[in-house]
Amino acid sequence: MRPEILFPLFAPVTALPGVGPRIGKLIEQLAGPRVVDLCWHLPSGLVDRRFSPSLAEAPEGAIVTVTVTIDRHEKPRTPRLPYRVRCHDETGSLTLVFFNAKPDWLEKTLPLGQKRVVSGRVERYQGELQMAHPDHVVPEAEAESVRRVEPVYPLTAGLTPRLLAKAIRAAVERAPELPEWIDPDYLRRQGWAAWRDSLTAAHNPAELADIDPMTPARQRLAYDELLASQLALALVRARQRKLVGRRLKGNGEIRDRIAEALPFALTASQKTAIREIEADMAGPAPMLRLLQGDVGSGKTVVALMAMAIAVEAGAQAALLAPTEILARQHLATITPLAEAAGLRVGLLTGRDRAKAKAETLAGLADGSIPIVVGTHALVQDDVEFRDLGLAVIDEQHRFGVHQRLLLAEKGKGADVLVMTATPIPRTLMLTAYGDLDVSRLTEKPAGRQPIDTRALPLERIEDVIAAVGRGIADGARAYWICPLVEESEAVDLANAEARFADLAQRLPVRVGLVHGQQKAAERDTAMAAFARGDLDILVATTVVEVGVDVPAATIMVIEHAERFGLAQLHQLRGRIGRGTKRSTCLLLYQAPLGETAKARLRILRETDDGFRIAEEDLKLRGAGELLGTRQSGLPDFRLANIAAHAELLAAARDDARLILDRDPDLAGARGQALRVLLYLFERDAVVKTVRSG
Ligand code: ADP
Ligand code: MG
Repeated sequence: MRPEILFPLFAPVTALPGVGPRIGKLIEQLAGPRVVDLCWHLPSGLVDRRFSPSLAEAPEGAIVTVTVTIDRHEKPRTPRLPYRVRCHDETGSLTLVFFNAKPDWLEKTLPLGQKRVVSGRVERYQGELQMAHPDHVVPEAEAESVRRVEPVYPLTAGLTPRLLAKAIRAAVERAPELPEWIDPDYLRRQGWAAWRDSLTAAHNPAELADIDPMTPARQRLAYDELLASQLALALVRARQRKLVGRRLKGNGEIRDRIAEALPFALTASQKTAIREIEADMAGPAPMLRLLQGDVGSGKTVVALMAMAIAVEAGAQAALLAPTEILARQHLATITPLAEAAGLRVGLLTGRDRAKAKAETLAGLADGSIPIVVGTHALVQDDVEFRDLGLAVIDEQHRFGVHQRLLLAEKGKGADVLVMTATPIPRTLMLTAYGDLDVSRLTEKPAGRQPIDTRALPLERIEDVIAAVGRGIADGARAYWICPLVEESEAVDLANAEARFADLAQRLPVRVGLVHGQQKAAERDTAMAAFARGDLDILVATTVVEVGVDVPAATIMVIEHAERFGLAQLHQLRGRIGRGTKRSTCLLLYQAPLGETAKARLRILRETDDGFRIAEEDLKLRGAGELLGTRQSGLPDFRLANIAAHAELLAAARDDARLILDRDPDLAGARGQALRVLLYLFERDAVVKTVRSG
């Protein structure tokens, strides 16, 4: 249960004064639905309203706060013209200008003959001093509430700065004092204030320097967030370690038979990875290892060998894939090899027929199915294993720590191998996985041809269509990726459908379409047809990004490549160049290209090394955005900025370790405070795993 002290923070934003359902919706889109989300919405700038010159001395373009007397209201003759309010002070005159004004409101706010304090930017127009839409208009008595440094917040359409600022001020005021969870010595050495004071300070910058991520207030808040995340990971890890692991040791027989059935030799890094996994599995503690390898580097075979070890040792193994397509693909890869070694492979997805499902469940329960591949269905309650020894999780950016935990728990102290294609630099890896052992596949399988990557302006699309037509006549298969439209799946779909119709009409080829709004079954059917060669072109929104393996596909066209991130382009391109034939990737861009877009396309043409691309991406975008947090599986930090706060991250990791060494159940006074911290950052699931204290 969430501690009571946090209730005010987790109330809906509509609990704040002045926030009704309409404003609430806008705030929800911008920051989130609860008061705490507004607290995390930090200022991106500030406006200094302390400058109060006389009107005669007000410099053009400056933001000023002035006290004026209202002389006259001039209503426009037509609604398209501005409404003007003439004012003066002892030194000169000022005209307030309003477009689309509501006369009633203006007459009430700016009553004739009275004094008002107005604040905003002044301009000179035909020799006349003007202020268009003052940011503040208040009676003189309230002047001090305006004449200050005001934070400026990132906005969304429809929300005025004043409304948002007011809501945030109310949210921050509601924040309770919380017990201190940071070690007092560390707090003192860093010169940080208590949580609530830091939050208040972060929302009340006095100068531009206070917006910097390295100010004490922002550092403290970032540290809190990082500590919560590191502590959560450490708790999961500690819990896993406590489960008594088992020594899974095989005689190598099954692996030998699989190796014989492989149509290729393993690469050196595949062999190394398998050795590392073998050593972990043979050890007493449960394995928690990340297998990191670029797209196409051959992770599946490594996973199969790991599963073979488990089976040799008399246990079962499960492979969890993020989608149905990928589960089936893994099944297709694994089955012939496993069968060559005399092993039955089961499949479990959400769409199995009742009878097939019952059979699989029975086989898992009695152990007659040693290896199973599946989707989320694998972690459901009805799935029981006779003896699960190894869980392999094909991360592909989709699963959270929590799901990992669930599958591992199906086996008592089961070993866990997580596969990811995201080439995350070491520091960032800490944020996603905490302390984790890593095996890396650093080389591509032999015999791969480099991909010929070219960038062309969109005007050349006719040539591209013709070239794709020729390629297909020569026996190639092509992916055609449609432009990404930010935040609009509907437009994405319209684009993809239009391109699909266009290609089908203009080329004598068989075209298929896959997109995010299709039912999974429909999408699978199209993907499978493309994989079999029953389709020549697969038009797709970015859904193909996730791990499909069609070695015969050798052409990829990406429309509006400038709209995609570098890592995303790399992932997409990784779908081709998987066979022995030479592949071509055509990046169609809308000219003129901005500097960053130009750099992205250049890097992509220069290299297909995922790690180099990740590093370049980091340089181009800054760590916060690396790979787009959503896609990379990295946690989405609200307050921490991984590039700026890398040192804090390392400190938080060390701190988390120390905390659990001293007080593994978070039972002491600081432990109790840390529980509040975990709830504050919504690591609720993890808190439940520690004994209630
Ligand atoms: P990913 O790492 O992207 O999951 P896969 O495991 O899907 O890569 O492997 C990509 C392709 O490479 C598959 O067709 C697989 O059979 C093949 N492959 C894997 N290892 C090797 C190897 N050592 N030599 C040649 N081909 C390999
Ligand atoms: Mg894969």
